[in-house]
Amino acid sequence: MNKKILLIDDSKTQLKTLKIMFNRAGFDVETACDGIEGYQKIFETAPDVIVSDIMMPNLNGYQFCRLIKDNPITKDIPIILLTVLEQKIDKFWSKKSGADVFLLKSAEIENIVATIEDLIKKKPISEEHKEKIKTQSYSTGLIQAELNQILDNSLMRSSLLNEFRLLAMHLENNSAIAKNLFDLLSSVLNFDLSLLILNTPGLSEKEVFASGCLNLADSYIKKAVEKSITGIFGPNTSYTLKTVYENWCGIEKLDDKIFQNSYIHPIKYENETIGAICFFGRQDKDIENQKLFYVVLKEIDLLITIQTLYAQNKYLSLTDSLTGLFNRRYLMEMLEREYSRSKRYKTDLGLALIDIDFFKKINDTYGHQAGDFMLKEITSIIKKMLRKSDIIFRYGGEEVLIILPETNKEKSFVPLERIRKLIEKTDFKYKDTIIKTSVSIGITDTKQETLTLEMLIEQADKAMYHAKQTGRNKVIIYDE
Ligand code: GH3
Ligand code: MG
Ligand code: MG
Repeated sequence: MNKKILLIDDSKTQLKTLKIMFNRAGFDVETACDGIEGYQKIFETAPDVIVSDIMMPNLNGYQFCRLIKDNPITKDIPIILLTVLEQKIDKFWSKKSGADVFLLKSAEIENIVATIEDLIKKKPISEEHKEKIKTQSYSTGLIQAELNQILDNSLMRSSLLNEFRLLAMHLENNSAIAKNLFDLLSSVLNFDLSLLILNTPGLSEKEVFASGCLNLADSYIKKAVEKSITGIFGPNTSYTLKTVYENWCGIEKLDDKIFQNSYIHPIKYENETIGAICFFGRQDKDIENQKLFYVVLKEIDLLITIQTLYAQNKYLSLTDSLTGLFNRRYLMEMLEREYSRSKRYKTDLGLALIDIDFFKKINDTYGHQAGDFMLKEITSIIKKMLRKSDIIFRYGGEEVLIILPETNKEKSFVPLERIRKLIEKTDFKYKDTIIKTSVSIGITDTKQETLTLEMLIEQADKAMYHAKQTGRNKVIIYDE
């Protein structure tokens, strides 16, 4: 039996010419002169392949294609779009509409028979499926309604994607991402509680943001957070619940019922879990089956991946690879931020500079690798002994600078003296050698007026230098 081509074109001459050509090549040919008639003929004739013009009245080739590819029963029939249009965007658009092949009438028409044979071989329609196609039929009104639905969905989808694209403006700021994401989610999905969990590079704890119903008790939010974090990252994962945004979800008092429906979705990048989005809701909120739910999930994946890469990049550009401390480039930015904060809230701000004593000698005696090892060990002691709010920088080769928010120089003395003592008494074990060392430390604060922040660092440096001159292994508080 001959294979059947459904040929659609609004030009009678074109139809005639192509029909003769296809008949000669051994195909049966059915014809239609616009998209609507063409669509109806699919169900009467069940063709093996469709060849259609693009520019036609009523229903153009792109819309015709979308209709076919959106209908599960016709979506596998191969389509060739034929056109005189030569712009790149036409080719793009025909691909987007689902066409299998796009051919130029002017240049590529001699390839058409070979292309058709190729498509039929690659995507054969079985006789059984053809019978199924023939069981359906479409009125003009129904075709129009179906097309409107497709266009409407695609418009909705692209508006949604556009909203997600705008979220990427907030990559700098996790709270802003969370807030804007929840605003968007609560306007397109039904849920009682949503959690965004971020595992941002450079932060020691997972951050959790929540958006829940106004009248949801904190204990249920906590339960949901625990459940999600444990499910994704395992038990005893440390996290901070950053912000809870409240959404209006009616007046009913909510309780354990929010767990009737849940959807927990880990977000992965290169085998690492970089975050998660979780939804909880009462029975009537069938989260997973909501319109565009999976489109939303995919966009969240993308957004959080970009955010993570951004944070990772930023983190790497601000940290020193040997010690993991912030680098000097980041120092002035942080110092200015902390300084203006201390001014605004009238709080203290301490600054300390630590320099390893006779470090050159360690390098000379045990080798540079041993020196690197010592640097890592000493910075890890410093990190361990300070508060989380203290900010530590690798200031120079073997110099570490520390910003101590809300701490004056006298108070800063306490932890720094502890650090000095611990380093002094530690036996650093490198390979089989025990290495001993000590540090000299200078401290100052913003109590006394300085003209510039560079001068503040200079004060710490002067105090540290004084410690060096008076025997090393000391903490000296700056005093004019
Ligand atoms: P002082 O007690 O006066 O501070 O003496 P010092 O030897 O520690 O001071 P100096 O400034 O003379 O020498 C610092 C040394 O630190 C010189 C340099 O080779 C070494 N250094 C700087 N950065 C690194 C590093 O990343 N790894 C290693 N192994 N050594 C480093
Ligand atoms: Mg030194
Ligand atoms: Mg030095």
